[in-house]
Amino acid sequence: MSKQEVKLCLLGDSGVGKSSIVQRFVNNTFNPLAESTIGASFMTKNFHEDSHTYKFNIWDTAGQERYRALAPMYYRGAGAAIIVYDVTSAQSFESLKGWVRELQHHGPPGIVLAIAGNKCDLEDYREVSYQTAKNYADEIGALFVETSALTAVNVNEIFQEISKKIPKETV
Ligand code: GDP
Ligand code: MG
Repeated sequence: MSKQEVKLCLLGDSGVGKSSIVQRFVNNTFNPLAESTIGASFMTKNFHEDSHTYKFNIWDTAGQERYRALAPMYYRGAGAAIIVYDVTSAQSFESLKGWVRELQHHGPPGIVLAIAGNKCDLEDYREVSYQTAKNYADEIGALFVETSALTAVNVNEIFQEISKKIPKETV
């Protein structure tokens, strides 16, 4: 059976857990001491959804300002983007809106947008409510889940939801 390749990039502030989400999805591991990403890193993972196989080519970018100018390289030609914020950081949710606007104006037409509110295991430190983020995601027509790379909650689900929204190539 054929595999459908999907370029996917992760965007969002530094420290929100982009690399941890990718680690959880690709290797099913969590490393609390992982070093921060320099520039960007690339990984692939096959994912089966409804008798269809997707090969995700995942570009995990660094959120630091000094790498921001590189972002277009990673979302160019992408079929999907996961924009990540940290539920314990209102600031990271504000930044997310900036990334969404950039993708809306400069991203590929038809790109599937998914918003991940990560670190949902840290309920006591929450600064962004589920409903606030959900309303925003609905407004812009993006998928939305709260994830935890630490506990693995909703990490596979976000890729599953994305798979469902990617137009299937029929060969
Ligand atoms: P990135 O800069 O967006 O790639 O973020 P990292 O994946 O490097 O994670 C930044 C920090 O947040 C690290 O110390 C991670 O261990 C921690 N972290 C990432 N995801 C979670 C999560 O779901 N829950 C908790 N409690 N910590 C997390
Ligand atoms: Mg990183």
